[in-house]
Amino acid sequence: MPTKLGNRMQRGITVLGSTGSIGRSTLEVIAGNPDKFKVCAISANNSIEVLKEQILQFKPDVAALSDEVAANELYKWLKGNGINNCHVLSGPQGVCEAAAYAEADFVVSAIVGAAGLLPTLSAIRAKKHIGLANKETLVMAGAAVIAEAHKHGVKILPIDSEHSAIFQCLEGHERAAVKRLILTASGGPFFGKTLKELELVTKADALKHPNWEMGAKITIDSATLMNKGLEVIEAHHLFGFSHDKISVVVHPQSIVHSMVEFVDGSVLAELSVPDMKGPIAYALSYPERINGVLKSINLEELCTLSFHKPDTETFKCLGLAYEALKEGGTMPAVLNGANEVAVGLFINDVINFNMIPDIIKEVMDAHENGGTCDLESVSEADRWARAMAVEKTMEV
Ligand code: MG
Repeated sequence: MPTKLGNRMQRGITVLGSTGSIGRSTLEVIAGNPDKFKVCAISANNSIEVLKEQILQFKPDVAALSDEVAANELYKWLKGNGINNCHVLSGPQGVCEAAAYAEADFVVSAIVGAAGLLPTLSAIRAKKHIGLANKETLVMAGAAVIAEAHKHGVKILPIDSEHSAIFQCLEGHERAAVKRLILTASGGPFFGKTLKELELVTKADALKHPNWEMGAKITIDSATLMNKGLEVIEAHHLFGFSHDKISVVVHPQSIVHSMVEFVDGSVLAELSVPDMKGPIAYALSYPERINGVLKSINLEELCTLSFHKPDTETFKCLGLAYEALKEGGTMPAVLNGANEVAVGLFINDVINFNMIPDIIKEVMDAHENGGTCDLESVSEADRWARAMAVEKTMEV
């Protein structure tokens, strides 16, 4: 996978969603290891100011903006500043082109939400190995994406702390030896709250995650436990285990990132301080490990690691995700589309927190699942679910 540039072994990296939380952490890891990695292309939606700084620092050959107005502005800015060695691509198609850019060996897919699907597929079809931070890609179209990866001989390395942990725990073990995957959930900012207490929570409360610094969408998903639900579906596609072999345990300290239980009753866990640079660096450098990426854990200071059963009566999104996974077909895409709309409505103060699972459930109940999960069916189901989520919101 690495290309030889000069007399150094340097891996060419493209970062899709470079201005988001994972994108910025990825660039930090790259900046700390210039002998190992080089940035080939970057992309963003419309965060042009951050992108300009990244272009100046990392000198990518290609920069793509899915917002065409922003792309045009970037083009003029580069010209005006005499920067002629960065090619600007524009629109969703431009992001897909950046994903397939020939010089890169490895593409970090860190675009938020369903918008990450087509660029990730574009990278896979161009035979780039993938560091996958965008869980919606697998939730919506896992079967199709994994099939494309096999067809093109592409590895998908997880950049989600839970899946990176499971990936590391599974290394060197036979599938038949695995009894179950155990995903840990922090429980988010509302762990221990009742349904009644949740009626009054605000957007600001929901955006205060106790352990992880993340973007707004995933932080709200973490507060509803939908994030864990999406991760159960993601784990199913990444590791090929059925829903009854994937369980969730709440672990408020976010030190144990996930575990694998084997048939003999033995459990392997991966522990580290909660910092996404760990999973990012492991994916970028796999199978090697980079020196000094994370601070050491101070076990004596931690004292306690606790584990609790998730409260699925209060946090209904987790159960909805299991239901969608069991049903299969286009239902996971519907769950995801309805969730993205509901979270957007909550962030914009249109609905309250407890309405998020209600809207998703109503949309799922109204969906006629054809049972197919090819790309066309899931894209159509995604469109349908978004429109239906808006319609259901207007009814209440
Ligand atoms: Mg995670």
